[in-house]
Amino acid sequence: MPGRLYHRWRRLRWWAQGMLLGGFAVGIPLCGFLALNAYSQLQTNSLTYIRRWVDNPSSRSRLTTSRQAPCPGAPFLLPSEGLMGLLWRDPALPYNVANRHSGIDVFGDGAPGTIPVVAAYEGYLSRLDGWVSSVIIRHDDPLQPGRTIWTYYTHMASREGESYIAADFPPGTQDKWVEQGTLLGYQGVYSGSRRPVGLHLHFSIVKSYPNGTFKNETNVDNTLDPSPYLGMPLNIDTRPERPIRCDASE
Ligand SMILES: [Zn+2]
Repeated sequence: MPGRLYHRWRRLRWWAQGMLLGGFAVGIPLCGFLALNAYSQLQTNSLTYIRRWVDNPSSRSRLTTSRQAPCPGAPFLLPSEGLMGLLWRDPALPYNVANRHSGIDVFGDGAPGTIPVVAAYEGYLSRLDGWVSSVIIRHDDPLQPGRTIWTYYTHMASREGESYIAADFPPGTQDKWVEQGTLLGYQGVYSGSRRPVGLHLHFSIVKSYPNGTFKNETNVDNTLDPSPYLGMPLNIDTRPERPIRCDASE
């Protein structure tokens, strides 16, 4: 009967339109996201080195940056040793060009809880009450005296949240003076509620609000390029080869 056929055809058309619209609604953002990530990975060389580091432990000694003293002419001491994996403003996964990495990731060669992390510069250390794996140090900016900046150190705990931070700095520590090179704790794999990360230290230099508190360091705009502070090419725009060395030759 024509009437029934007509209704069936209309239902079919309605269904097909729905599928098409639904496909666009999911497909266009998905394609955009995939394209953004593919484009982002072309702007960085970091994943090549991280893959080599993870897959081939015998490559690690050749990829490691280690410093006992600041680079010539630079104020900060490298806070831990290992592969300088993700760099500042790095769009390597899980980041991308719209959400860049705010610091440097130093991947140590060893077990969690064994690779020392030290203060990059003298200042006043705080560890908030809930902080399992992080400390932050307030400094008078050596490159811009009179300005307050902060250095932030995180992932210093086990997968289960056993802290590797030195006993001198329990949760609730406020404004405790530390010298450059003071042991803060050890590299770990803890990342809060998110899934554990590979063993590394995340280190960033964080801007201050005018009232003297630190800004949210997960936003790269709230952080500073660590290159001039450490005297090393740590901005991903320069795509440095690893191991990273001091800018100035010794
Ligand atoms: Zn990081």
